Amino acid sequence: CGVFGIYAPEEDVATITYFGLYALQHRGQESAGIATFDQTDDGSQFYLYKDMGLVSQVFNERTLAELPGSLAVGHTRYSTTGASRIINAQPAVVDSRLGKIALAHNGNLVNVDELRESLLAADVKLQTTTDSEMIAYAIAEEVNAGKDWIEAASIAFRRCEGAFSLAIATPDGVIATRDTHGIRPLVIGRMGDETANGMSRYVVASETCALDIIGATYVRSIEPGELVWLSEGGLTSYTWAPKQERKLCVFEMIYFARPDSVVNEESLYSYRLRLGQQLAVESPADVDLVLGVPDSGIPAAIGFSQAAEIPYGEGLIKNRYVGRTFIQPTQSMREAGIRMKLNPLKDVLQGKRIVIIDDSLVRGTTSYKIVRALREAGAKEVHMRISSPPVTHPCFYGIDTDNQDQLIAAQKSVEEIERKIGVDSLAYLSWEGMMKATQQEPNTFCSACFTGKYPIAIPEPMQQTKLR
Ligand code: SF4
Ligand code: MG
Repeated sequence: CGVFGIYAPEEDVATITYFGLYALQHRGQESAGIATFDQTDDGSQFYLYKDMGLVSQVFNERTLAELPGSLAVGHTRYSTTGASRIINAQPAVVDSRLGKIALAHNGNLVNVDELRESLLAADVKLQTTTDSEMIAYAIAEEVNAGKDWIEAASIAFRRCEGAFSLAIATPDGVIATRDTHGIRPLVIGRMGDETANGMSRYVVASETCALDIIGATYVRSIEPGELVWLSEGGLTSYTWAPKQERKLCVFEMIYFARPDSVVNEESLYSYRLRLGQQLAVESPADVDLVLGVPDSGIPAAIGFSQAAEIPYGEGLIKNRYVGRTFIQPTQSMREAGIRMKLNPLKDVLQGKRIVIIDDSLVRGTTSYKIVRALREAGAKEVHMRISSPPVTHPCFYGIDTDNQDQLIAAQKSVEEIERKIGVDSLAYLSWEGMMKATQQEPNTFCSACFTGKYPIAIPEPMQQTKLR
């Protein structure tokens, strides 16, 4: 999912949030929503608009005009827990003694069963099936018991286990936080100059590409276990838990985040180029042309071509108006999606030996169709190289890599996969190669979907939902 939060008096925060969400559209395409508070002399008025669909389908000038205020949070959803339905669209809203709470969540809690039981025991009437709503209720519970926003949120966050990057609107300010391992990203940006009366304006966003589009300057990442409070007083930082070992999702680096985003000073475009270079060193291919699967495989394909000194070309044209095929909730929708999405160029491919680079191989359904299309277009040999290691384990922290029985590399050997997807050869980047290509420490990443080493323990019943 994509999350965004802003505190900016004298600005049109709904429109800024809309543009921020537009830049975060790739993180979730099922639903979009914005909640605002308008701080007036008569108190803080709450406004909300959310619906199924893309940011550009959900919002227009009229709906944005009905979201006045000085603070906002926004969300683009990609479902991991809770079905793809309007009731689960975010921001999730609950009421409290101090007013409404609107919460935008990226990630996935692993202790939902425990949390649900304790909330139900406290007589909370849960409206939805999402973990996100439970976090909002946990905050409301503490607020209703007399705590202030910061204290209430801190206590609630300590009850949550798993991955959560959050932007939460309250009548008085925006709360932003990351779980103690910082699995999902969340960055702070600063908007232009101070207001006339000296107030600074801050935003938080899942990725730096959202700061670029609204003209904010990158300040830093939110620290794991840190609570950031954006309000009249500017930005205040609190710590609700001692920092644990950082475990940013490495899948964000190789695939999920946009290539024009920067993670801990590292450009993801450059990182993906280096992944491709490393791949060419580890697993060369004797071919005439290097192709990338648009769009996610392209930086690595360019890197591969550079290191292998084999020309890079475009052999597949993507219909830019079709969403990410992977992110659609059902397999049959995904299968219908891919045929609409990529069309091979016969004149480029005819009679050529090619290597096609993709960032990851998850289920193998995309690859099978791509390879078949390349052969039908006349490619003489089709080799495939993947700029990440085999995905052998499901993710429990907010990326929908499916159950283990759907993961092709968990079920089949490289030779079996070659036959299944119909390539002349297949090779993956090594785990060491993936880590070597970053400028960061390997142990600061979660890479559990490649290794099975989960940094946050998965309770037994939850394991059974996906490890089969
Ligand atoms: Fe990311 Fe994989 Fe870890 Fe999930 S298991 S957080 S996808 S690295
Ligand atoms: Mg892709």
